[in-house]
Amino acid sequence: MALGHVGVVGGGVNGLCIAWELAKRGWDVQLFERGHCLAQTSSASTKLLHGGLRYLEQGHLALVAESLRERASWLREVPQHAHWLPLLLPIYRQQHRPAWQWRAGLGLYDGLALGRLPGFARWLRPDQVLELYPQLSTEGLKGAWQFWDGQMDEQALGWWVLDQAQRAGVEIHEGCDVREVTTKGELTVQTSANGITSNHAFAWVVNACGPWAVDLLERSEIPSSVQLDLVRGSHLLVPPSPALALPKHGLFVEVPSSRRIAFLLPYKGELLVGTTEEAQSLNEPVRVSEAEQKQLLGVLEHYLPAWLSMAQQQGRWFSGLRPIIVRSRADLSSASREADVQRDGRLLSVFGGKWTTARSLAEQLVNRAPFNGQP
Ligand SMILES: Cc1cc2nc3c(=O)[nH]c(=O)nc-3n(C[C@H](O)[C@H](O)[C@H](O)COP(=O)(O)OP(=O)(O)OC[C@H]3O[C@@H](n4cnc5c(N)ncnc54)[C@H](O)[C@@H]3O)c2cc1C
Repeated sequence: MALGHVGVVGGGVNGLCIAWELAKRGWDVQLFERGHCLAQTSSASTKLLHGGLRYLEQGHLALVAESLRERASWLREVPQHAHWLPLLLPIYRQQHRPAWQWRAGLGLYDGLALGRLPGFARWLRPDQVLELYPQLSTEGLKGAWQFWDGQMDEQALGWWVLDQAQRAGVEIHEGCDVREVTTKGELTVQTSANGITSNHAFAWVVNACGPWAVDLLERSEIPSSVQLDLVRGSHLLVPPSPALALPKHGLFVEVPSSRRIAFLLPYKGELLVGTTEEAQSLNEPVRVSEAEQKQLLGVLEHYLPAWLSMAQQQGRWFSGLRPIIVRSRADLSSASREADVQRDGRLLSVFGGKWTTARSLAEQLVNRAPFNGQP
């Protein structure tokens, strides 16, 4: 017999993992998604299953350790959609962080992985770097750190999660916009196909609307304890050409004249370049700006100049909104990717998080009251 009925709002990776975890533990779960599942932030990431090397610099050790544990779980349990990716972190004469800082960071990064990785970071001389990555800019190159991180086929892994949730018994309702929630476990849903509004009552409701989580609370006149800042991140996908082979390594680089980090990664037969970080509001369209295009093309021109003209001719752009729990808008790069949960009576709201940690976030939520039987 089911423990009780739970309504989950939001069909991104967080909502799906929460619904799946609840169903596995014996709850009867219905999930409401206003559009299609996995069509928002969860389809616009950098596709890395990673601890986030740069978060170490900001002191988010617990988050990195948790993410590295989760990286290992995805890679072990879903190897058909997740794999190890070798990365190079090139060190140039002119860059913001010195080589020793990366060396210390990578030592800690690999240490926190507790041996769950194919190899430890190692230093490569310029000639070794160019053997692995002949297209890389050489001007001022002192060498590179080679290290490992996880990469997913984002769409396939997302559909795998959705399939697991459905097999565990989750009922998924797409095209169902939740207009309002209450602290008594009620939902008002508008169906996009016919505009009909219906009311539903559950023992518990989980608000997992990602960037829209606070918006749903505000619409329902429930105060939010969390300030959610929205950051648009854009990416560029470039197909290879017969003259331009796709590299096997990813690159982890500093954005020229900045401390920000960018990735240039092989991804499903193309080169993925990202990401930007631009503050925006929910009312603005989520699409790449001219300034972001300039920034990412600048990264490409700086590190892989041979790819620039292909990017200008055939590059495709996509953008996503990252909800960040942040105290200050001054430096969005350093804001934590950690998650937070707010409880209001029979309503639980989830804020923030990462693709990599979606399953541990779900486990943590379901391990706590009220789902663990405590009041
Ligand atoms: C540019 C960028 C790069 C990133 N790169 C990485 C990375 O490499 N690795 C990593 O681990 N993480 C990465 N992340 C973070 C990761 O993508 C997110 O943490 C994760 O996808 C968030 O999932 P979510 O379910 O919270 O949100 P979403 O995927 O946005 O899902 C929320 C869902 O709620 C639905 N919804 C909203 N309001 C309602 C409503 N009222 N009624 C019904 N449905 C509603 C929306 O339609 C949406 O489908 C990145 C994020 C960005 C933006």
